[in-house]
Amino acid sequence: MIILVSNDDGIHSEGIRALEEALAKLGEVYTVAPDREQNAVSHSLTLHRPLRIEEVGPRRFAVNGTPTDCVNLAVKGFLPVRPQLVVSGINSTANLGDDVIYSGTVSAAIEGSLLGIPSIAVSLVSRGPVYHFGPAADFAAVLAAEVITQGMPPDTLLNVNVPNLPREEIKGYLLTRQGKRRYGEKIEARVDPRGKKYYWIGGDDLGFDPTEGTDCVAVHEGFISVTPLHVDLTNYRSLQELRGLRLPWP
Ligand code: MN
Repeated sequence: MIILVSNDDGIHSEGIRALEEALAKLGEVYTVAPDREQNAVSHSLTLHRPLRIEEVGPRRFAVNGTPTDCVNLAVKGFLPVRPQLVVSGINSTANLGDDVIYSGTVSAAIEGSLLGIPSIAVSLVSRGPVYHFGPAADFAAVLAAEVITQGMPPDTLLNVNVPNLPREEIKGYLLTRQGKRRYGEKIEARVDPRGKKYYWIGGDDLGFDPTEGTDCVAVHEGFISVTPLHVDLTNYRSLQELRGLRLPWP
């Protein structure tokens, strides 16, 4: 059993170590991860500069690229054998609601899924400075074991968010759907030492839509959230509604 581990926090992050240790009980873990933080790079693939892979430890490889690059390279031939499972994380911050569209952590799992391998993304809902990676790593291993034995529905990856709580305070897990987070729309404009303007993106966290059954609500209530995702972004409701549209065309 070969398990590929990646992330977007970089190969030196604490979360990836916790994940590797937990998954080592299930099989042979290979880590191919970015050599530095690649947060919010989404599904970016590097096509216009050379990618280098450096061995940094036994079965641990750092890539000067994105999470998608890492999984792509690993699966398409860098690893001696094709992995049977891809697990990305443990990200040090949440990937709830719309976060998944920006997330490098989730994208590593998406890449695994696109390549036909069951894939899981794991994130800790934390803002630091304390990180309870232990319970998240243990749940990742439990879920991974289940996926290894039972498989995964086609075109599915699992997005897992774990409350940043001590084990005894986590209430269990819930299957959820993607919710909606609210971020502020402010950007920070400042002036650099040479008198030129620069900008800083990153809105304030304004909470979330409190709809039951969503990832945001589950985590807020102290549950681990497991959301099955797929890459088909088609809005099927709109597809129905737009069927009556009659655009003039010769
Ligand atoms: Mn990250």
